[in-house]
Amino acid sequence: MTVNLLDLDGESLTAWFAEQGEKPFRAKQVLRWIHRSGVADFDAMTDIAKSLREKLKARAVVAPPAVVSDKLSGDGTRKFLIDVGNGNAVETVFIPEDDRGTLCISTQAGCALDCAFCSTGKQGFNRNLTVAEIIGQLWQANHALGAVHGSERVISNVVLMGMGEPLANFDNAVTALKLMLDDNAYGLSRRRVTVSTSGLVPNIDRLGDACPVALAVSLHAPNDKLRDQIVPINQKYPLKELMAACRRYLDKAPRDFITFEYIMLDGINDSDAHARELLTLVKNVHCKLNLIPFNPFPGSPFRRSPADRVRSFAEILMGAGVVTTTRKTRGDDIDAACGQLAGQIADKTKRTVGRVIPLMEARS
Ligand code: SAH
Ligand code: SF4
Repeated sequence: MTVNLLDLDGESLTAWFAEQGEKPFRAKQVLRWIHRSGVADFDAMTDIAKSLREKLKARAVVAPPAVVSDKLSGDGTRKFLIDVGNGNAVETVFIPEDDRGTLCISTQAGCALDCAFCSTGKQGFNRNLTVAEIIGQLWQANHALGAVHGSERVISNVVLMGMGEPLANFDNAVTALKLMLDDNAYGLSRRRVTVSTSGLVPNIDRLGDACPVALAVSLHAPNDKLRDQIVPINQKYPLKELMAACRRYLDKAPRDFITFEYIMLDGINDSDAHARELLTLVKNVHCKLNLIPFNPFPGSPFRRSPADRVRSFAEILMGAGVVTTTRKTRGDDIDAACGQLAGQIADKTKRTVGRVIPLMEARS
């Protein structure tokens, strides 16, 4: 069977090489060619013996998912649509800032968790992305941004904050994370790789053990009654358990805070009373809060909170000493959204949507 080497992290590549009768240092060389130099063609791996190259050609491929469109926004944000087969596509977004470049990666085609305000959730769940499809987004973005063959690093941060719930595709997400951190692959700092989750409590613990990276938790409501409605996974893992998991995670995390994401929905979760309730909820978790202006999509019953409401809400939090930021909208001229856009290459909603979801901002 032909193996796609993009599916393997350093450890499993070494094991696979051993099965082929090859030494670990050969695996390391090939890992570097694939991920650091962005090479997919074994013949271009010039310091690998011809006999090994022939063996690799017979047994393996380096097959990233195809980029089917690549759009550049006026503000430098760049959006890639990645073909994952059967008419499905996911999105990857590059967000350049003065001091960093952040790539937002998808982990599933669709999402099963059905949050009330999320158009990815409304598309339903299609399937988990493979490791090659997850890490392939980084591989392809590096190519498109000219960041291969020893040139300087363009992508300094990665957020698993595109389409899907990363902790519901746990094994593949963790294998991809390990490649992101591996010095022989992408060599990113743990502090600059962020997983965003809607709160799969057992897998928050597992992530802390398997591959601790920065954590963002999509909170969106300050009490169970409301959160049960807008983030249905809360019915399974209520806030008390989620907060406890966040505290446990902090013992293992590379950063000393959790980022709580809070989408601002007009008249739903954005009152001063909600802000005060939120303060009580998070008082025992060292955290930062990121307020996200809601972006409507066809058929969604919600509206974005007015800017002065967001400001008042933020002031209450900051007044109590909680670092609070409001996410900027970027790349909206190209519909560069939090992976909320096309679930399919031929996406019907896209024709009717003037403007979809704003892009997530990296926080680190
Ligand atoms: N499933 C993970 C990661 C993907 S969603 C999670 O839920 O955290 C990434 C972010 O997109 C979430 O914080 C979510 O709040 C945000 N999001 C979803 N729908 C949105 C919308 N309509 N407007 C603005 N942000 C949205
Ligand atoms: Fe899934 Fe996250 Fe959207 Fe909820 S917000 S439906 S968990 S992608």
